[in-house]
Formats: sequence, structure tokens, C-alpha cells
Amino acid sequence: MAGISIERVTKSYGPLQVLKDFSLEITDGEFVVFVGPSGCGKSTMLKILAGLEDATSGTVRIGGRDVTDLAPGDRDIAMVFQNYALYPHLTVARNMGFGLKMRGMPAAEIERRVNEAAQILGVAHLLDRKPKALSGGQRQRVALGRAIVREPQAFLMDEPLSNLDAKLRVHTRAEISALHQRLKTTTIYVTHDQTEAMTMADRIVIMRDGEIQQIADPDTMFRKPANLFVAGFIGSPG
Ligand code: ADP
Ligand code: MG
Repeated sequence: MAGISIERVTKSYGPLQVLKDFSLEITDGEFVVFVGPSGCGKSTMLKILAGLEDATSGTVRIGGRDVTDLAPGDRDIAMVFQNYALYPHLTVARNMGFGLKMRGMPAAEIERRVNEAAQILGVAHLLDRKPKALSGGQRQRVALGRAIVREPQAFLMDEPLSNLDAKLRVHTRAEISALHQRLKTTTIYVTHDQTEAMTMADRIVIMRDGEIQQIADPDTMFRKPANLFVAGFIGSPG
């Protein structure tokens, strides 16, 4: 049971209120996409879930456990960023296993998990290479692998495809969806791209200026947008 519960979260930076009363219940295994224009608070919400930022007020639960005041390392979640920041001097295998090693996991178990994730992601033939010998798409898969090997309760993905070219983005999008079908790990995926939201999400959360405009499955969002902003953003006839 690893749903995510966000209760009345607010976040201010000085006078700037970035999140205004954000509440959302995500069920175990759901793939939820946060979408909205640049600056609307998507990354801030993910950082609060990951423990990289503190909420000004409100509560966050993961798998029923109140994690609001827990350090990032004590939350059983893995974050994937757009700038995937692999260690240049380590091989793909070591990049993927690095976090597990830091936690003192036995080498044989690390190897098992790395090999399994590399198979799933189609990078098994690259395990001995260094990041500079990889394409952008391969690097992003290694970054995903680094999250998968942790076998976390949830994935948080912040615009993971935005550094890829258009063709690769479509391809990798399909791979992430297939991965979710296979692992069924609760996922929050942030994007400013409505097409990604419409094609990948179980439910879409549309944000604007730190507020949720609508929460719905893609079909409902398209057919019954809550307001003109949602209709315009989703490209629905309204
Ligand atoms: P998004 O990911 O939707 O583009 P962000 O969550 O990154 O938006 O940012 C939301 C707002 O908060 C923006 O106006 C941004 O400038 C502001 N912001 C983000 N981080 C900080 C910070 N550390 N200090 C001050 N303002 C910030
Ligand atoms: Mg962002």
C-alpha cells in the first residue's frame, strides 16, 4: 500500500505564495501527471514530496506514513530529474548501483538489481561504459535505472524527457508507460507538455499559479474541462 496523500500543502518564499492549499489523494499504483505552465509550482510540489523543500504548512503521507518532517533519505521514494547528472567517472553499472552501495547493500544484491533494471530498460549491453560514451536517451534510461534499482514505494519524475529531442521524447514516453505497466509503482510525473499528460496519465492534475484547476482522467479532462484555462491548456474544444 503506497498511495500518496497530500493534505492542504502551502509553500511560500517570502511574500511569494507558490503553492496555495494543495490537496490530492493518489492511490497505490496510479500514474498521476502534474501539468501546467512554467512557474506554476510543479517542481516545488515534487520537492516537498521528496523532502528537498519543507512545506510552509500541510501534511504529506506516503504509504500511510506521515513523512512531512522526514529527511529525503528516510522517505522510500526515488526522484528522476531532467538533468540526470550521472557520475562521469563511474560506469553505467556503478552509476545505477551507487545509491544502494551507499546504503550498505551487499554487492551481490546490487548486481542482481542493476542487471534486472538494465534488462528492463534495454541498457544491459552498456553496463561497462562511461556516461560520455552514451547518447542522451541512453543516459536518461540509466537515470531511470538508478531510480528503479531502489525499488521505491513511489517515483517522482520532474520533466524527465525535456532534454531529449522530439523523436526520442515520444519513444522514451512510451517506454516509461510500459515500465509503469510492468512495475505498477505509484508515480507522479511532472511536465509542461499537455501531450505527455494526455497520453501517459491515469489522472491529470492541472495547475496554475500554485492552485489546482482540475483533477480528472484524460478523457474527462478533454470532454469536460472545468474552465477556459483547462480547455485552452489541454486543447479541448471546451
Ligand atoms: P514549475 O516547476 O511549475 O515551473 P516551480 O515550482 O519551479 O515551477 O516554481 C514556482 C514558483 O516558485 C516560481 O515563481 C519560482 O520562481 C518560485 N521559486 C521556486 N523555487 C524558489 C526558491 N528557492 N526561492 C524563491 N522562489 C522560488
Ligand atoms: Mg519545474
